[in-house]
Amino acid sequence: MCQKKLKALPKNITIDGPAASGKTTIGTIVANKIGYMCLDTGIMYRAVAFQALKEGIEISDEAAVTSLAERIEIDILPATSQDGRQFDVIINGEDHTWDIRTAAVNAVVSEVSVYPGVRKAMTLQQRKIAEKGKIVMIGRDIGTVVLPDAELKIYLDASVEVRAQRRYVEDLSHGKDACLEDVVDSLRHRDEIDSGRVVAPLKAADDAIVIDSDKMTVYEVVEFVMGLLEMRE
Ligand code: C5P
Repeated sequence: MCQKKLKALPKNITIDGPAASGKTTIGTIVANKIGYMCLDTGIMYRAVAFQALKEGIEISDEAAVTSLAERIEIDILPATSQDGRQFDVIINGEDHTWDIRTAAVNAVVSEVSVYPGVRKAMTLQQRKIAEKGKIVMIGRDIGTVVLPDAELKIYLDASVEVRAQRRYVEDLSHGKDACLEDVVDSLRHRDEIDSGRVVAPLKAADDAIVIDSDKMTVYEVVEFVMGLLEMRE
């Protein structure tokens, strides 16, 4: 990569958007291309939801879930298994990479993410990670709340039908017993809560570049984002 391009790269890049819009796929490829780290913040909210279920905490108990979010230890490390994972997700010292992707976690993660105290705890950690720069950070509120000063913000959108189809195929490829209708319902449920919450709702930042990926391949979206980076030179 030429020096000119490196100099022009933004400190951090944010990618927000609804569930299964391809944020992690695109973010990981772009990060690899430019030598940045990619952090999918959904993992952190999933970790809190998973741990709450594991500890038998009532999801409706805001104080207990918030206290859990304040003490939980989440490490997102390079993948050590070749089982399709992008990262190892270590929660309080144990590998729970796949446990955070179950239907049970999907069903409650958005409820957990509504709690302001949970968001505060996660946001603090995310800002700390981003301090050094060279991060592609993925989530729902990264461009609006976590890193509002980021120089390049992407909002990746797609219709619920297209997102559900992609997630369904992905689930099948991981050997999950998936049902397309259930995937649609689960995405709708999460979208509704994520967009409707009072604190840090899912929405595009005013200065975000919105990409509708319905009719775009992964390659086309990546090329579009790389084009945005090159335009900055
Ligand atoms: O991205 P993913 O689908 O794994 O995120 C799981 C859930 O975590 C989302 O549905 C949302 O409720 C929550 N989340 C959030 N803010 C973020 C990232 C994820 O509220 N920055």
